[in-house]
Amino acid sequence: MILTLKTGSSKKDIEKIILKIKELGFKPQVSAGAERVVIGVIGEKAIIHRDKFEQFDAVEAVTAISKPYKLVSREFKKEPSIITIGKNVKVGGKQVIIIGGPCSVDTRANLMENAREMKKAGAHMLRGGAYKPRSSPYSFQGHGEKALELLAEARKLTGLPVVTEVMDPRQVQIICRYADVLQIGARNAQNFDLLKEVGMAKKPVILKRGLATTIEEWLMAAEYILSRDNDQVILCERGIRTFETATRNTLDLSAVPVVKHLSHLPIFVDPSHGTGVREYIGPMARAAVAAGADGIMIEVHPHPAEALSDAHQALLPTQFAHLVKEIKAVAEAIGRTI
Ligand code: PEP
Ligand code: MN
Repeated sequence: MILTLKTGSSKKDIEKIILKIKELGFKPQVSAGAERVVIGVIGEKAIIHRDKFEQFDAVEAVTAISKPYKLVSREFKKEPSIITIGKNVKVGGKQVIIIGGPCSVDTRANLMENAREMKKAGAHMLRGGAYKPRSSPYSFQGHGEKALELLAEARKLTGLPVVTEVMDPRQVQIICRYADVLQIGARNAQNFDLLKEVGMAKKPVILKRGLATTIEEWLMAAEYILSRDNDQVILCERGIRTFETATRNTLDLSAVPVVKHLSHLPIFVDPSHGTGVREYIGPMARAAVAAGADGIMIEVHPHPAEALSDAHQALLPTQFAHLVKEIKAVAEAIGRTI
């Protein structure tokens, strides 16, 4: 249930309402928009108590949210959420954010070369896997903490904030020490204990769509994080399983306008895992920006033959730099910047 307060409600009014919510055993979630304050009353059957809130002078409207996700919904928050990463990367505004980097961190030399190239090409963030979710237990599993140290070194070198995947609740603490953004991968999109743990971490999170999750299930996964008081969530479409075999996954670009309609959270697109084919990444990245994506995540490697995972889908830095220029043109055509 959400309480929309009258414009100009005072701090004291808000405090009184919050007290009442807690008294009734529910959890208040305040969202201060540009014009008005909205308070979410979180808890089952909160709507039964609607009359108790209608009595407050400051309450203009009491609305039930019938969807299984609440804090993530447009009903709860009308304005798009802007998420700040590092000192000055703002996600969800006019700027389209570009993330580039290797699938997994391998050697120090390769990562530093890659990071320098990403910076030069105009990327805003650096990606790199330290803990890798591999389909086979015999495939390279990531260099773990050593890779996290290298990512932190690459950030120091370039100033680019770094994003890396967390696979297990036990990794959250250590990854938080090194990374600017925690990524939840497709295979863990419905690992509810992990979602709760990153919710408590208070770091920005990129939540990938699961291989077979509907948009509603994906938004409910995001709700797990927001309901633990972490509202810094960026969704990332990365393709879903269909009968098609020409591409690694089927990139569902319609998820971009659907998510924008249903939620205030920003949405990125990952055409690298979405297609799995080097030649298709550029066209789908351009299409994603045209469709309204707030950012793009792309795998890049300066020497793909040395990559320890996803070598076949890694762009070369020169190809990435060319794509950034194309993305800029598309972004500008729809009134955005990069
Ligand atoms: C990744 O980004 O490194 C990754 C493993 O992606 P996904 O979880 O989308 O498969
Ligand atoms: Mn990969």
